[in-house]
Amino acid sequence: MSTSIHDPVTSIKGIGKTTGQQLEALGIISVYDLVMMFPYRHEDYRLKDLLETPHNEQVTIEGKVESEPSILFLGKNRSRLQVRVLTGRHLVKAVFFNQHYLKNRLAPGMIVTISGKWDRGRQLINVSNFSDGPKTDQADFEPVYSLKTVMHQKSFRRLMRNALDYVNGEHIESLPADILQAYRLPTIGAAMEMVHFPKSPEDVKHARRRFVYEELLLFQLKMQGMKKIRKEAEKGMVIHYDLAKVKNFIASLPFELTSAQKRVVNELCAELKSPMRMNRLLQGDVGSGKTVVAAIALYASITAGFQGALMAPTEILAEQHAASLAEWLEPFDVTVAFLAGSTKVKARRNLLEKLESGEIDLLIGTHALIQPDVLFKNPGLVITDEQHRFGVEQRRILRDKGLNPNVLFMTATPIPRTLAITAFGEMDVSVLDELPAGRKEIETHWMKEDSLLPILQKMEKELNNGQQAYVICPLIEESDKLDVQNAVDVHSQLTVHFSGRHTVGLMHGRLHADDKEAIMREFSEGTIDVLVSTTVVEVGVNVPNATFMLIYDAGRFGLSQLHQLRGRVGRGAKQSYCILLADPKTEEGKERMQSMTETNDGFILAEKDLELRGAGDFFGKKQSGMPEFKMADLVHDYRALETARKDAERFLESNSFWEDEEYEVLRNQLEESGALSKDRID
Ligand code: ADP
Ligand code: MG
Repeated sequence: MSTSIHDPVTSIKGIGKTTGQQLEALGIISVYDLVMMFPYRHEDYRLKDLLETPHNEQVTIEGKVESEPSILFLGKNRSRLQVRVLTGRHLVKAVFFNQHYLKNRLAPGMIVTISGKWDRGRQLINVSNFSDGPKTDQADFEPVYSLKTVMHQKSFRRLMRNALDYVNGEHIESLPADILQAYRLPTIGAAMEMVHFPKSPEDVKHARRRFVYEELLLFQLKMQGMKKIRKEAEKGMVIHYDLAKVKNFIASLPFELTSAQKRVVNELCAELKSPMRMNRLLQGDVGSGKTVVAAIALYASITAGFQGALMAPTEILAEQHAASLAEWLEPFDVTVAFLAGSTKVKARRNLLEKLESGEIDLLIGTHALIQPDVLFKNPGLVITDEQHRFGVEQRRILRDKGLNPNVLFMTATPIPRTLAITAFGEMDVSVLDELPAGRKEIETHWMKEDSLLPILQKMEKELNNGQQAYVICPLIEESDKLDVQNAVDVHSQLTVHFSGRHTVGLMHGRLHADDKEAIMREFSEGTIDVLVSTTVVEVGVNVPNATFMLIYDAGRFGLSQLHQLRGRVGRGAKQSYCILLADPKTEEGKERMQSMTETNDGFILAEKDLELRGAGDFFGKKQSGMPEFKMADLVHDYRALETARKDAERFLESNSFWEDEEYEVLRNQLEESGALSKDRID
C-alpha cells in the first residue's frame, strides 16, 4: 500500500486513538496538517561563553556540579532548588523553580547540561531546561511548537519524526525542478527536515525561504487566476474615444505632460478601449499630477459618449477639482456639475434630472456621489481621488452601482509595492513616479519645540517675499488631557505676532462648510497670508504660492501623514520649507523625524512607515483585508513576493503549467482553493 500525505494522522506509527484526539485538539487531522505545523521559534542549545553572554539572555552551558543542592520550600507546591555548577573557569549558581524532584540528579561531581536565562549581575542561571550528562547527548537546535497544554514538546517531536518518515518527502513536491534550482531552494522533503529537525540556524533560514516562496507563489496564482476570471466575466465595455480630440485637449494644457503622465495616460486609454473593465489603482506621490491624468481619462470617456464621475474625500478638494476640470474641459464642450452634502435640495433635484438624462457629462463631488438616488445615464469611468480615505465598503458600493463602470482609484499615500499587490491584489496598478520638471525639493528641518522664534523669523522672510505659509496643529481647541498645540491658541498667538504686517486665518474640521470654503478661497486668492489649520488641509489642496509649512507636535503624526501635509508646499517653482517641531521620546519617534528630513520620496517614507508600524497598522484595521500567511512576512519578504508575482504571471500564460505533470500539485492546490478551474481559460 502506498502512503499519502492526506492519510489520517492515525496511520502514522505511534499515533493511536488517544494521541489522535490530542492532535485533533490542535487542529491536526491529516498527516499533511501535522508536517505543516511549523514551529514558532527554535531553542538554541549551542554552548555559549558566559563572558560573552549579555544579561538576561538565554544560555546553555555544560558543567560539573560543585555543591550539595539546597532546597527552599515556598509553600503551595512551590520550591526553589539551588546548586553550584562549574563551567570552564566560571562558578555559577543554577536555580530551579518548582522542580525539587531533580535534587537526586544533582550530586557533586556529576556532569550536567543546563539552559536558562543568564543573570549576569548575580552570576546565576534560571534553569528552564536540564539534562544529565554532557551536551553531546543533546541537539543544538530544537523547534518549539505552539502546543498549548495538549502535549509536551518532546512527545510532539517524536511524532513529527515518525510523520516525516511516513511521507518521505518527494512525492508532495509542488515546485518544479527548474524553480528549485534557479532559486537554490531545498526540496519539500529536505525543507521539512530542516525546519523540524534543524542542525543550525542556517537550516531554518534555508527551509523558510522555500516555504515563503511556495506560499507567496500560491497566493499570487490565486490572485491572478481570479483576476483573469473576473476580466473574462466582465468583458464587454469598449470605450471608443476620439483620439484626435483627446490629443487636442492635451495640447491645450498650460504645461507639457511628464513622461510618467504620458505613460499612465496610455495605460488608461488602452484599457478603456479594450473590452476589459478597468479596476485600477493609480499611485502617484504628492504633486505628481494625478488630477490632469484623471481629467484626460474622463475626457476620453466623454468623447465616446459616456459620462464621467470624480469623487474626492473632502468638499474643499472636490471643489478644487471641479474648478480645475471645469477650467480645462468646458472649452471642449464638456458640461461639468458639482455635488456635495451641502448642495441645496432644489439644485440637487435639478442636477439629478440632468444627470439621468445625460445632459451632464461630468459629475464631481464628495461621497454624495454614491447615494442611492444618484443615477447616471451611462457612466463610462468613475474615478475616486485619495481613495485610501474611502472604506472598502464604499469601494464596493461604487463598483456595484448600477452599470458597473470602469473604476480608477487614485492615491497619493504611496502604498508600498508589497502592500499594493496584496491588499489590492485583484487590481491593476499604475504608478506616476516622476514629478513635473522645475520642482525644487522641499527643505525639511526637524527642530526642538523651544526654538520657535527663529522659525517665525524665517516664516516672516517668506511672507515678506509675497509667499504664504501653513501652520499645522494636531488639535482644534485646548485639551486637558494632551499637552499639544491647538489651532485656536496658535491662531491668536500668531495674529498678535504678525499684527499689522500679515493676516492669519484659522481652519479646522468643525467650521461650517461655507466658512471653510470662504477661508480656503481667501487663502488661495492670497487675502490670508498664514493659514493655521488642523490636518483638514492634508489632502489635495493646491495653493502653489505657499512655500512655508510649520508643523507643531510633528511627533504625533505618522510618516505618511506628515508627507501628505508637507505636500501642500513645494507646489510651485519657488524653494519651499517644512519645519517639524517635535521632541519625540522614543527611538522610533526620532527615526521618523530623521526620515522626514532625509527624503522627499513618498515611497521610501511609506516603506519606512510600514517597517516601523507593521502592515496591520498601515491601513488601519478596517481597511486592511490583508491575507494571513503561515511563514511569509510582507515587510521582509517583499522580494520573494515580487519574484512570486512574476513567476505566477508566467505560469498562468504558459502551456506547460496547465499540462505538465511537474505542476500537478500546484494545479491541485489552486483548484482546491476555488481560484481556478483546471480547465484552461483563454
Ligand atoms: P497630485 O498628484 O498631488 O494630485 P496635482 O494633480 O494636484 O497633484 O498637481 C499638482 C500641481 O502640478 C498642479 O498645480 C498641476 O496643475 C501641476 N501639474 C500637473 N502636471 C504638470 C506637468 N506635467 N507640468 C507642470 N505642472 C503640472
Ligand atoms: Mg491630488
